[in-house]
This record gives sequence, C-alpha cells and structure tokens, in this order.
Amino acid sequence: MGYFLIEPASIDLLNDISINGDYSMKKGDIMQIKHMIILIIILFLMYCIIHNQKRPYIMHNHILSAIGNTPLVRLPFNTPAAIYAKLEYLNPGGSIKDRSALYMIEHAEKSGDLQPGGTIIDASSGNYGISLAMIGAAKGYKVIITTSEKISQEKLQTMRAYGAEVIVCPIAASDDYNSYISLAKRLQVSTPNSFFPNQYFNPVNAQAHHDLTGAEIWEQTNGTITHFFAAAGTGGTVAGVGRYLKDKNPNIKIIALDSNNSLYSTCGNPKPYKVEGMGIDFYSDIINYDNNDIIEEIIPVSDEDAFAMLKNLARNYGFLVGLTSGAIAWGAHHYLPKLKDGDVAVMIFGDSGRAYLTKGVY
Ligand code: PMP
Repeated sequence: MGYFLIEPASIDLLNDISINGDYSMKKGDIMQIKHMIILIIILFLMYCIIHNQKRPYIMHNHILSAIGNTPLVRLPFNTPAAIYAKLEYLNPGGSIKDRSALYMIEHAEKSGDLQPGGTIIDASSGNYGISLAMIGAAKGYKVIITTSEKISQEKLQTMRAYGAEVIVCPIAASDDYNSYISLAKRLQVSTPNSFFPNQYFNPVNAQAHHDLTGAEIWEQTNGTITHFFAAAGTGGTVAGVGRYLKDKNPNIKIIALDSNNSLYSTCGNPKPYKVEGMGIDFYSDIINYDNNDIIEEIIPVSDEDAFAMLKNLARNYGFLVGLTSGAIAWGAHHYLPKLKDGDVAVMIFGDSGRAYLTKGVY
C-alpha cells in the first residue's frame, strides 16, 4: 500500500513511526523532511516570481510602459568574441530615444516644469522628436519639434502622424540664428505654458541611459560585458550607459562613434555629413569628450563606410537598421582585431532602416 501510518501521539511518545510496518523513522528525520518540503515550496514560489518578472510575454497597461527591455541579438561577425546588437528599434516609438524622452518628460512633470495642458518644444534630428510626439499623444500634451532639412521623410511624417507640429529649418551650425536648435529656444520663450527638455544639455538625458539602458545591458549580459559601442549624438547614451558600466566594472571599454566630418572629429572644421543622429557638433555638460574617465576611444566614421555596412547588415545578416547602426557596426568591425576569445561586446542598433528607405542607401 505505501501509506505513511503516522499517529501524532505515538510520535511524541515513542519518537519514531512505522511505515507500512517495514521501516521506522526518527522524529528528527520527519522534521528534516518537513524543512525540505518547505524549502522546495519557497524555491518554487521564488522561481515563479522571478520567472514571471522576466517573462517576455508581459501585458502592459500603457504604451509608455512598453519602452525598454529590448533584446540582445548576436551578430555572427568573424571573431572569437561574442558581439551582440541591442535592438533599440523595437521600442514603441521605434528608437532608443524613447527612453531618454520619457525620462525627461516624467522628470519635468514631477518637478512641475511641465504642467497639464502644456506644450513640449524641442529640437531633434528626428527620433527624439518622434518619441516626444508619441509621449505627447499618450499623455495629452501638444508637441512642437524643430528639425533640419537633413531629416528623412519617414521620420518627418511619423512625427506628424502622432499629431506633432514639425518645423523644418535649414542645415546650420547649432549656434546659428537659423538652426533648428536656436529656433526651438526662441519658440519656447514665446509659447505660454511650454516646456523645453533641452536634450542636448539636460543631464536627465544621460541619467535615463544610466538607470535604464545601462542597467539593462549589465543584467542581460549577466555582468559579462567587456566592450560597449554607441553613437554619440547628444552624448546621453554613451555617457549614461558608460558611467553605469564603468561603475560596475572599470575594465569595460566604452567606444563612441562619431561622424568623421563633425566639429569634434574635424578639430573645429565641420563639414556636412549624411548620417542622422550621430555627430559631436557642440560641447555640453552631458560629457566632456576631451577629458573624461568613461570613453576609451572615439572612432570617426564616414558616410560611405556607414552606408556600406548598412547594406551588408541587411543583406548578409538580416538586420535592417538605421544610419547610426551602420556606423556603429562599421566601428565595431574595425575594432575586431582588438577583441579576444571570451570578450562580450554590445552595440546599440538605435533605430530601424525603415525610417530611411527613401534615402536610397540600402
Ligand atoms: N542612434 C540613433 C538612431 C539616434 O537617433 C540617436 C540620437 N539622435 C543616437 C544614436 C545618439 O544617441 P545620443 O543622443 O544618446 O548620443
């Protein structure tokens, strides 16, 4: 039969029990079994909680809570190291800028800088404007974005589809009166109840990438990451993720990608370039590129190299990614000889190639 024939009174009195009459068991053994069962139940409950938290099939109650938790996908580059791309184009607004835009808006709501019914105004090369437009639509704010003529039609139309007002300015140096950055500042002054997140100078931009992107990458790689590659636009990603990773492990190498024609890479003699969203063309407190303890190397990338890599990524690897991703992948590829077996590199694929199809680069 196989039943336990347990009589509590006999346990207390005799300090043992009989099982089918064949075996006897000490009271101490019973206690051990009880503890084991309790331990197994606790472990099972902990597994359920952790497993549930990490489940990819999460249900969200709001579009903005779907921002983040993007996957890392390995790229089969010819190297003994493991190279992963973080697919930031899977954010609901289609780019990495969803993270910093949401952080800056929620910070301003808490501080009172952004009031209900207010207008959000900022300058953007496109993706950040799309994120603000989406957030404005979801939270009930009016959004005005100034941008430059370089912007792709897809990004322009996307902002408008979310209901944002978009003003396209001529390509000009950031401190020029006609630049999209100067116009955004003037608009903010003349628009009542408006908020200017000022992504190029707002430290909350980098804080978002510290708290969200950096922490996520550290966890996803179980702390094994050795190299991080990101494009420098406002510098928020490289500064925020870089700071987080360096604090976790100072040996991690942070590599920034810049346009070879930017203010920084030309040592003050910038020329036009086509990659949107990348390029160190101004100096701000977000990061001092000349003097910091975060960035190991800044690699300048030409439009031609970035675009050739884009085609390669789409046709040979199945990644249809945006212009900065081409530049980053080219930079990472260029860096391959320095990587060794056991290294784990992560690069940011910040947006999708679908935002640039009319540019004719694929
Ligand atoms: N990649 C893409 C696709 C972007 O839109 C941007 C920002 N314009 C960047 C990279 C650069 O990020 P950050 O502004 O944080 O330096």
